[in-house]
Amino acid sequence: MVFRIRDIVTILGLANLVLSAPADSLQRRQSTIVDCLEAASVPVISNSSPNYASEVIPYNLRTPFFPIAAAVPETADQVSSAVICANQFGLKVAARSGGHSYAGFGLGGQDGSLMVDMKKFKYVNLDPVTQIATIGAGTRLGDVSYSLYNLGGRALPHGLCPGVGISGHALHGGYGFASRMWGTTLDTILEMEVVLADGSIVTTSRTENEDLFWALRGAGSSFGIVTKFKLQTLEAPANGVRFTYSFGVPTTGSNISYHVQIFRALQEYAQTTAPKELALRLWTLTDVFEITGVYWGTREDFDTVIAPLVASWPAQTTVVIEEDNWLDTLVAVANGATLPQPLDYTQHDTFLAKSIVAPEPLTSNALTSFFNFHQNSRDAPVPWWVIADLYGGVHSNISSFSLDSASYAVRNSLFTFQLYATTTLPPFPASGIKFMDDLAKSLISAQPETTFTAYPNYIDPTLSASDAHRLYYGSQYQRLLNIKRSVDPMMRFWNPQAIGV
Ligand SMILES: Cc1cc2nc3c(=O)[nH]c(=O)nc-3n(C[C@H](O)[C@H](O)[C@H](O)COP(=O)(O)OP(=O)(O)OC[C@H]3O[C@@H](n4cnc5c(N)ncnc54)[C@H](O)[C@@H]3O)c2cc1C
Repeated sequence: MVFRIRDIVTILGLANLVLSAPADSLQRRQSTIVDCLEAASVPVISNSSPNYASEVIPYNLRTPFFPIAAAVPETADQVSSAVICANQFGLKVAARSGGHSYAGFGLGGQDGSLMVDMKKFKYVNLDPVTQIATIGAGTRLGDVSYSLYNLGGRALPHGLCPGVGISGHALHGGYGFASRMWGTTLDTILEMEVVLADGSIVTTSRTENEDLFWALRGAGSSFGIVTKFKLQTLEAPANGVRFTYSFGVPTTGSNISYHVQIFRALQEYAQTTAPKELALRLWTLTDVFEITGVYWGTREDFDTVIAPLVASWPAQTTVVIEEDNWLDTLVAVANGATLPQPLDYTQHDTFLAKSIVAPEPLTSNALTSFFNFHQNSRDAPVPWWVIADLYGGVHSNISSFSLDSASYAVRNSLFTFQLYATTTLPPFPASGIKFMDDLAKSLISAQPETTFTAYPNYIDPTLSASDAHRLYYGSQYQRLLNIKRSVDPMMRFWNPQAIGV
């Protein structure tokens, strides 16, 4: 949703924050960090600057935070100077790339951090021989896909929203409709330039600073500020077939078993048949139950591939099938959004999301409990929806990368559920948080024999740090902690769920 900055400033009370003088100690500290940044020629927006309010508006208006200042560097040397200044004044640091963190972690996840806004690092270059892309850390996904396609018909696997930043996305996973075919965005990273906690600028790859390379790909926000990526691009598919099968709404007990049957058939198909070129998701809310996705290939091949799944379903009510090239398919799945993005972003939402990574098929018991909760949620305190994305299955390439290839820990996902509740504008009621907990529990508690985890790109700020570490990193956490202690012993790169908190 697009808002005028003035409206959001009013809603969040930012006008008061800017007009009323901060506490004396904060003011003194701020002028010192600002002085330090200015002395080092780092462009900076202090919290008394007229553009501070528009600079710190988060994508998720439910999680506003107020950094002590925003550094807006243009070079890796300036990023380094910003980190050195933060060291001098004992400030926590967070980088912001596209600002789409579900929890305002690009702003620091608390008041008073130093934000390093990477928006000026916005470029995409393609080597015509190696087909390796060099991408600035502040580039948004829409610019990435648009540029790569126009530069040479190339592509990457990544998420659907053109406004999401490449850095947060690629450093914590990066799932999209090409991911079963090519893996996550993270799996295409060949090399990164990164500024570390001591201000040094290093290159990381499989052969250089290997531990750091491993840690950054899954838990990047805890280890440094990436300034540029080298990514292995792939040839964009010639054709994408978009499809939506719509089913009736669950209003009775028998409808619930009908939906359980549909999802169970989907799981069976995923585990035995679904080719890697097929992206599939369940999209459901109070009055919607749809299986939708994209097949990267011809319509004829799609018809053959999908036939066994459709045959296993009870009749669907409607079917929509459309075809386009790679770029137009990306536009269509982003609901017609323009791919190239402005430097300053104006879309926002007010929401809480949770993810559930299901490593194995859901039982009839768990699905019945979950869909039953749906049926009884017509009067939920907040509007909500659920997407269950097929990550795994017999031919998926997400799980074909070994677990120790990167710190990203949720490769074993069969389905990743995203539970999302939104009020569009603040306030978001406390009853909405409870509703979301209950929604998640309706699935998880009904299948106690399974160890469910969570997806680190769908940050849930209601989790404690230890739960976040367990759910996002599992058995990778101890190695991450060891690396954190060696490269950032002072916990300079910090958010409430950072490694080591
Ligand atoms: C509307 C919307 C749609 C989405 N769709 C998808 C989807 O289809 N698939 C999917 O997988 N995810 C999706 N996401 C989730 C998205 O991938 C994450 O929120 C992602 O982390 C956002 O990255 P960002 O750079 O935009 O956010 P930011 O808020 O800028 O950063 C997110 C985190 O990364 C850190 N960070 C940012 N830049 C750097 C850097 N240069 N170096 C080190 N750390 C950095 C930040 O400090 C923060 O902790 C979506 C999110 C939204 C809001």
